[in-house]
Amino acid sequence: MAEGEGLQQHPCCGICMEPMAPTEAHLGGVGCEQAFCSACIAQAGHLKVESGGGTLRCPYASCDGALC
Ligand SMILES: [Zn+2]
Ligand SMILES: [Zn+2]
Repeated sequence: MAEGEGLQQHPCCGICMEPMAPTEAHLGGVGCEQAFCSACIAQAGHLKVESGGGTLRCPYASCDGALC
């Protein structure tokens, strides 16, 4: 699976879809291989607190992983 390899240089945030530098990418939690920008991770953290904690799910419908 060599195709698409070049896209790895600028992963897109799984939430806002903005391209970001690899160094800006925050990986999802357990079982999640998507990357998210720091702003969206921060927002997700707020939602997590407001909803009483617990596990925040990855926004990808096809992903069963947890987010941060
Ligand atoms: Zn984002
Ligand atoms: Zn995921």
